[in-house]
Amino acid sequence: METHYEVLIIGAGTAGIMVAAQLKKKKVKSMGIIDPAEFHYYQPAWTLVGAGSYDYEKTRRPMKELIPKGVKWIKKTVSKLDPDKNSVQTSDKEIITYDYLVVAPGLAYDFSLVEGLEESLGKGNVCSNYTDPEHTWKVIQNFKGGTALFTQPTTPIKCGGAPQKIMYLAENHFKKSGLIKDSTIVFATSGGVIFGVKQIAETLMKVVDRKNIHLRFGHQLKKIDAKKNIAWYSLGDNQSLYNEKDLKIDRDGDLIGIHFDMLHTAPPSVAPKFIQNSPLANEAKWMSVDHKSMQSTTFPNVFGLGDVAALPTAKTGAAIRKQVPIVVDNLVHLMGKNELGSMAYDGYSSCPLVTDYGKMVLAEFDYDNNFTPDPKLKRMLIKDSSKEHWRLWILKKYILPYMYWNKMLKGKNV
Ligand SMILES: Cc1cc2nc3c(=O)[nH]c(=O)nc-3n(C[C@H](O)[C@H](O)[C@H](O)COP(=O)(O)OP(=O)(O)OC[C@H]3O[C@@H](n4cnc5c(N)ncnc54)[C@H](O)[C@@H]3O)c2cc1C
Repeated sequence: METHYEVLIIGAGTAGIMVAAQLKKKKVKSMGIIDPAEFHYYQPAWTLVGAGSYDYEKTRRPMKELIPKGVKWIKKTVSKLDPDKNSVQTSDKEIITYDYLVVAPGLAYDFSLVEGLEESLGKGNVCSNYTDPEHTWKVIQNFKGGTALFTQPTTPIKCGGAPQKIMYLAENHFKKSGLIKDSTIVFATSGGVIFGVKQIAETLMKVVDRKNIHLRFGHQLKKIDAKKNIAWYSLGDNQSLYNEKDLKIDRDGDLIGIHFDMLHTAPPSVAPKFIQNSPLANEAKWMSVDHKSMQSTTFPNVFGLGDVAALPTAKTGAAIRKQVPIVVDNLVHLMGKNELGSMAYDGYSSCPLVTDYGKMVLAEFDYDNNFTPDPKLKRMLIKDSSKEHWRLWILKKYILPYMYWNKMLKGKNV
């Protein structure tokens, strides 16, 4: 049996639901969305869950409540793409055909890229807000002092700032619980700066100084030895140390091993396998799209957006908020006039960097890492969002989740 849709969307996550909700308001003959998941999560709040400041249950909603009415939910997993034949195959071998395809399956975790990660993550003192934020909060609460190591893999990850947000909150918690004097907080990253946007980096370096955090740049995470509590790194040419502390360090050839008492990391991230194995992937195996239109670089009736897309900007829901109207406009123009619309994506993304319980900095930027603050922030009496502000914390904890569930996922432009 073969089913056909004018528009078929793969993935009912942030991007897929928003595209469906906005396209529904246009004239589309039939729309299907494929996703096997029972639930959708508001992942940005997982940072707060990991710091004991948000209820995990509140980040989860049943998928059936979110898929817009009139859009057929195909509760299956895509296993293969055949864009030459305008068709996709599901894991139970159903063939679904389309006139236009929107690819939004997010990203996948490949734990094998860091030896020892799969066995250790989510157990004992090795945690990740990306996979189990409630466990992170337990690890932070159980920490008795020593070295708290915050790190991230060398691959692209969702919300690149998230591995340091939880560090700032953990430090704040250790201060409140009186443990900070017996603790060393370390941030080890393969990058060479704390953040790519100059104004934000300046603020964050002040936060790092205030919190007495030891930074280790150019550190490529290779292996986690959970039995001995050692994280192993190879060092890049850009390696440098800031605010150095006396750590217990082992060496093994070119690798250096940092002993830790707790470790938080993001998992190495890749495009889902069916994308990697498809003609839509680029050399790095992410989905190849035009950076302005988000049209596939090889199949004009296919678009890709969200975490799966090979766009040189941060992978965030905030980026998707700006990508969706452009993809929708292009699809509508393509269907009606056989040409793309005139809107272009400038790489906007945003990262709400919580720096303490009750404080936040809002990094908003474009492809060139220009700081591009939303003028609407002035209405919230926030003059300079590159500086820490309590009102930004209110935005993160209360206003953004409300906007997400009630506006963005309903197809309203915000
Ligand atoms: C800890 C953390 C903190 C974050 N903080 C922020 C933040 O502060 N601000 C911000 O804007 N963003 C943040 N993000 C990032 C944001 O959540 C993601 O960028 C966004 O959700 C990605 O949306 P997406 O639609 O691309 O993928 P997702 O929302 O992940 O959805 C992908 C969907 O595709 C489905 N799917 C996957 N494979 C298949 C398949 N083979 N067949 C069918 N369906 C499939 C999945 O089931 C899923 O429902 C954070 C993320 C994390 C983990």
